[in-house]
Amino acid sequence: MPESPASAAIPKVKISPRGVARLKDGHVWVYRSDIVSAADAAPGALVTVTDTRGKPLGAALYSSSSQIAVRMISRDTVSDLPTLIRERIAAAIAYRDAVVSDSNACRLIFSEADFLPGLVVDRYNDILSLQLLTQAMDSDLVRDVVLAELSSRLPGATVFERVDARVRELENLPPRSSQILRGEKAATVVAMNGVQFHYDAAEGQKTGSFLDQRENYAAAARYARGEALDVFCYQGGFALHMAGRCSQVTGVDSSRSALEVADRNATLNQREIEWIEANAFDLLKDYSASLHFDTIVLDPPAFAKTKRDLEAAMRGYKELNLRAMKMLRPGGVLVTCSCSYHVSHQAFLEMLASAAADTHRHLRLVELRGQAKDHPGLLNVPETSYLKCCICFVND
Ligand code: SAH
Repeated sequence: MPESPASAAIPKVKISPRGVARLKDGHVWVYRSDIVSAADAAPGALVTVTDTRGKPLGAALYSSSSQIAVRMISRDTVSDLPTLIRERIAAAIAYRDAVVSDSNACRLIFSEADFLPGLVVDRYNDILSLQLLTQAMDSDLVRDVVLAELSSRLPGATVFERVDARVRELENLPPRSSQILRGEKAATVVAMNGVQFHYDAAEGQKTGSFLDQRENYAAAARYARGEALDVFCYQGGFALHMAGRCSQVTGVDSSRSALEVADRNATLNQREIEWIEANAFDLLKDYSASLHFDTIVLDPPAFAKTKRDLEAAMRGYKELNLRAMKMLRPGGVLVTCSCSYHVSHQAFLEMLASAAADTHRHLRLVELRGQAKDHPGLLNVPETSYLKCCICFVND
């Protein structure tokens, strides 16, 4: 790669052979332990990455604090970061225009998977929820480019910045509060698959909703029937989608504030759903001795946040699935999810098979699903594919 005069001023980060091998495999991260030298790189700087002999490997964004020291943005040297960011935002939005047709809520920009590491933008109708998760994305220069590009492509939309205090700490960034950056309104109503949801940018978990399940809601609704139980229902995503198909739907969650929104959502869609505030583990233990359902959805929070949690996480998944399998009537439908990246598809299926064997039930795997298409997984960056959603029929 020839060096242009402009790139001469760009700081260089030298990485070890192990770091080089990782990039050759198509990954985009280099860990701090694989940095050989980064003396000139300021926090959040655009850098040129080289091997130990100085051969350029591409352009990256540098973090002086995170364990992920380098996030590649191009295999070429980059001198004009604003133009690259504008082009990437345009491409990300064009991709959603191509793959999302059933919703005015979707993830517009998904960090590494859109070649914009550290930037997440979710669209909720006329509100954009923005997360700037790295030193580079948080810089004034990048903030201004991102805001200007979003405002020109989606004129009139409110832009709300959602801050994760823990991420800012890890990136050694000063505290900041979540707030509106452009526009006025922070609340709206979104529609997906013909179901409506209240959305408040300042409230709720993640960016306020679980958009990655959007296509799985529709899939679950295709099979759901009879009496249905939505466990870990949050604001009622699965429950509301199933309500049109089922004779009765019950949603369970431990968060009162989530259930309050779920109830408002039921009213908005003119549905009758029973909401129960409870610890799902306790409730399933009580129910599994006596109660039966035709459809059960399990969508727990990520039990394995790190590799170390994996064993305990698998026990948690198994307990939940075992109880659900016991409670399903013959011919019943189990929709069971895991959003832990550390739990592989294979490990999840093995856990289900083991629970089926323990309960003496035969399960047919009808659909093995992942996250919605607006949350694309990058094949060589496995961390971008995290959601598993299995739809099974219980035979006897
Ligand atoms: N199915 C939801 C997303 C679920 S997220 C949707 O599609 O929108 C996980 C949910 O589990 C959160 O709402 C959280 O409040 C809830 N939760 C976490 N621990 C719980 C527990 N022990 N019992 C019941 N709910 C729990």
